[in-house]
Amino acid sequence: MAVQTVASSTSGSTVDLGPAAALSCRECGHRVPLGPVFACEECFGPLEIAYDFSAYDTEELRKRIEAGPANIWRYAPLLPVPADVAGKPNLNPGWTKLVKADNLARELGVTGGLYVKDDSGNPTHSFKDRVVAQALEAARAFGFTTLSCSSTGNLAGAVGAAAARAGFRSCVFIPHDLEQGKVVMAAIYGGELVGIEGNYDDVNRFCSELIGDPAGEGWGFVNVNLRPYYAEGSKTLAYEVCEQLGWRLPDQIVVPIASGSQLTKIDKGLQELIKLGLVEDKPYKIFGAQAEGCSPVSTAFKAGHDVVRPQKPDTIAKSLAIGNPADGPYVLDIARRTGGAVEDVTDEQVVDAIKLLARTEGIFAETAGGVTVGVTRKLIESGVLDPTKTTVVLNTGDGLKTLDAVAGTGLTATIRPNLESFREAGLA
Ligand SMILES: *Cc1c(COP(=O)(O)O)cnc(C)c1O
Ligand SMILES: [Zn+2]
Repeated sequence: MAVQTVASSTSGSTVDLGPAAALSCRECGHRVPLGPVFACEECFGPLEIAYDFSAYDTEELRKRIEAGPANIWRYAPLLPVPADVAGKPNLNPGWTKLVKADNLARELGVTGGLYVKDDSGNPTHSFKDRVVAQALEAARAFGFTTLSCSSTGNLAGAVGAAAARAGFRSCVFIPHDLEQGKVVMAAIYGGELVGIEGNYDDVNRFCSELIGDPAGEGWGFVNVNLRPYYAEGSKTLAYEVCEQLGWRLPDQIVVPIASGSQLTKIDKGLQELIKLGLVEDKPYKIFGAQAEGCSPVSTAFKAGHDVVRPQKPDTIAKSLAIGNPADGPYVLDIARRTGGAVEDVTDEQVVDAIKLLARTEGIFAETAGGVTVGVTRKLIESGVLDPTKTTVVLNTGDGLKTLDAVAGTGLTATIRPNLESFREAGLA
């Protein structure tokens, strides 16, 4: 893979990304200045944002956050964005509902408090608006004018919409056989949408090639060369969950895994809140959820392996269908370190779980939400998840985008417009 150093448009200039101080290698700790780079020049390890939070006073910070806008920018002091970010054209995602799911808790036998963090409430109806919002700010800072990505579906829509709002060009790449809801959602904002004959891993490989080629020069790939910034957006899920619980850590949190980025950054977000003194320092467990038809991380977890062997995805949970997840090994570390687990469910269990969540809580999840709810149920049944503890389950997308998954759900009866016909149908 080509390792891109600082783009010509940024050389010599310093960028203002608030508390972000540098990029730091997750493997060897090597530090480089903030720029559109994603791999360590020493060891090829992934780069992530290093911050300087030393100036913050805990109670002042808490007040500042609580007085902030009802979106992710309330956490701007903890994100790689300039202080005036809230005034820039952005979709302003986040601050989605944390639903106390008592009906679902009763069905699953959870007594310690069960919550659904419902990220279908974001502007393009998935959690991806959070990560794109960060990448957009980085793209602005580095002087990019085209936003791009490789996507399993939701990211393409989030990039298209963010680019439209911010006045960027967009050109995004998806596997050619995605759900219609995802394709329309990605195309409607007027950017270019390219279907690649292959699966997500092929799309991603192509984008890595494009970055190293003159054809991709000046392009900000939100999940490739802007990945360190993009990834930080997932921390806001952790921040919101804790603030919405009254500045408390959940005991257990169930997170879907595609590349694994979201799960690793939820852990990073929780760690930061502990270090900043915003929540009490106590143990929490992170559980990862996959679909059986694309379960490289849960397979490795169950086998006790440290490496993740790539798979060829075959599942209805297309938004999670990454067969070679970049953050897989880090997910394994986190699940093991926190005492969590990684589990998978069949497509049939995904559909059952989508229906269960809809029937009990009035939340229509996309297949990824079926995966987390299904895995939660399975982990309770197997005794791995403790039903007496406060548990948060993520729903990261909207069921309207994956209607085919629940095809056959429809009319109870068709009747003539009179009472006799209604009574005949047995509905009175
Ligand atoms: C992208 C995505 C995820 C998680 O992605 P990661 O690559 O693991 O960060 C989860 N749910 C949905 C609906 C998504 O689109
Ligand atoms: Zn390194």
